[in-house]
Amino acid sequence: MKNSPAALFSVRDVYHDLALRPVERSCLRRTECCQFKLTGRTPQLTRGESLLAAQAFRATGRKNLPEPTDGSCPFLQSQTQKCLIYESRPFGCRTHYCQAAGGPLERKEILHLIRQLEHLDAELGGDGPHALPQAVTWALSER
Ligand code: SF4
Repeated sequence: MKNSPAALFSVRDVYHDLALRPVERSCLRRTECCQFKLTGRTPQLTRGESLLAAQAFRATGRKNLPEPTDGSCPFLQSQTQKCLIYESRPFGCRTHYCQAAGGPLERKEILHLIRQLEHLDAELGGDGPHALPQAVTWALSER
């Protein structure tokens, strides 16, 4: 099993590769996609993504993951409506653009990056992606 620093490096590498791609989308940070109850969609995280998100969350000085009652992402700050871990946000948050931003990327466009995250998940002993709140809760208990 890879150690965590190497795993986090690999995940950042995937995010970096994604960022280098020319994409005709423009995130307006409307945070619509952060309202899980509203959209009916919750980002699914592999283990490496979960560990990176947990590390970023801890770096803010917080310990316990908030449990929003409005069905929004636990990383969405209610007062500012900003993502607490934006630089380390999961792959799904980087690829599932809302319609106003140009719509989600097609799976086939990013399949090889998804495969890299899945491969890393298996190396870390994972059993596939899990919904963000559960995935990050697991990662916080690991660190
Ligand atoms: S991790 Fe950040 S960008 Fe992703 S859904 Fe949560 S608040 Fe939104």
